[in-house]
Amino acid sequence: MKKTVIIGGNFAGFTAALEIKRKDKNHQVVVIDRNDDFLFIPSLIWVPFKRREVEDISIPRGDIFKKKGVDFLKATALKVDPDRQIVETDQGDVSYDHLVISTGPKVDFNVAPGVKEHASYVGTPIGAMKIRKQLEEFKKNPGPVVIGATQNAGCMGAAYEFLFNFEKWLREEGIRKQVDLYWITPETFLGHFGIDGMAGGETMLKSFMKMFNIHYRTEVAVESMDEKEIILSNGETLPYSFSMLMPPFVGVDFVQSSPKLEATSNGYIPVGEDYRHPTYPNIWAAGIAVDVKIPFTPGKVPFSSPKTGYPSDETGKIVAENIIRVEKGKEELKKKAWGKIPGICIMDAGKKEVLILSNNLFKPRTFAIMLPNVIYDFGKVLFEKYFLWKTRKGLSYLP
Ligand SMILES: Cc1cc2nc3c(=O)[nH]c(=O)nc-3n(C[C@H](O)[C@H](O)[C@H](O)COP(=O)(O)OP(=O)(O)OC[C@H]3O[C@@H](n4cnc5c(N)ncnc54)[C@H](O)[C@@H]3O)c2cc1C
Repeated sequence: MKKTVIIGGNFAGFTAALEIKRKDKNHQVVVIDRNDDFLFIPSLIWVPFKRREVEDISIPRGDIFKKKGVDFLKATALKVDPDRQIVETDQGDVSYDHLVISTGPKVDFNVAPGVKEHASYVGTPIGAMKIRKQLEEFKKNPGPVVIGATQNAGCMGAAYEFLFNFEKWLREEGIRKQVDLYWITPETFLGHFGIDGMAGGETMLKSFMKMFNIHYRTEVAVESMDEKEIILSNGETLPYSFSMLMPPFVGVDFVQSSPKLEATSNGYIPVGEDYRHPTYPNIWAAGIAVDVKIPFTPGKVPFSSPKTGYPSDETGKIVAENIIRVEKGKEELKKKAWGKIPGICIMDAGKKEVLILSNNLFKPRTFAIMLPNVIYDFGKVLFEKYFLWKTRKGLSYLP
């Protein structure tokens, strides 16, 4: 019986595991993850504002894997020796025939002095709950707020979502007039999103900023911050009482500690359009762990592209299909460049939303549209409910 070990069992790894098992019941699949629960990360932006509890968006993955015949090992993978085909974990060594790396990101809080110590971060349950607590204090003594993304960041969409949810929360709390709200971003223009924007996107974002009286600075980096001020690369100093920043993502320590993986300098795995490692054909990568080249010309300040949930899921499916093909002796593998995966994303804008749809994630695109929905964020809520339902049922083959 062939054995595939998958490190990281959230979006990409969860899908890859269930898909391999669905396609071949006789294939042993072992998922290694350091956490017990699947986490629907996109809804973390609602946790600080009490619209969701962390438990609402967490699903114990072990139960689902058990039902579907996938083995689960709660452990932290430390490194891999691809020549011996052994993964070293804090719970012992695990051997494999195929290895899938779907470890997602590590957040680089060291992007500028002071960011680690002073900026808040919404992208983890602990970070989101810490912000919830900070907001309780903030509303007693409101002051200026700076929200944004730092240089080299790629996940700008989540920071925009947090910004608009924060603005809405200020209005609900009746303190909007007491707060000077700033958006800072390395993007060359509003709504670039690391994908070179879409027709109408910049105009829409500009009108949102105007409508909600949000000051913004594009093409800025954070030089440094302390507990009171943020110094920007354009020479400005912004005082703040609260700040949430989205730093860049890099590869996790497991990847960086495994030199034979030949990862890029920022810790991502080089793979072909079949998501197969060029040197070790039994190693595959999916989701954020994949090295994706930036598809646009950078401006004054570097930033990168987002690796969102849909392509993470898709690459998990492609890897599963290709492992099965290899095991059946097929030579032709499924291929789809990251940038050619369709773009399907919903940006929540505080009980409003923008649907972002395109035939290709990256340009050139023949179809790309940004649709605002100012009535309610039905799309985002529906997407969340659907995704949690399909995950609980283990129906990873669904779109
Ligand atoms: C705040 C926020 C909001 C977002 N909103 C959206 C959105 O609205 N729409 C959208 O499409 N995308 C959104 N994203 C992006 C989305 O979350 C990612 O695309 C997706 O999580 C990537 O999936 P992944 O499987 O590659 O990585 P992850 O989901 O990060 O999963 C990686 C897994 O690997 C495990 N792991 C890591 N290292 C190890 C190790 N050494 N040993 C064992 N286990 C390990 C982790 O525990 C984790 O379970 C958002 C991201 C953030 C941060």
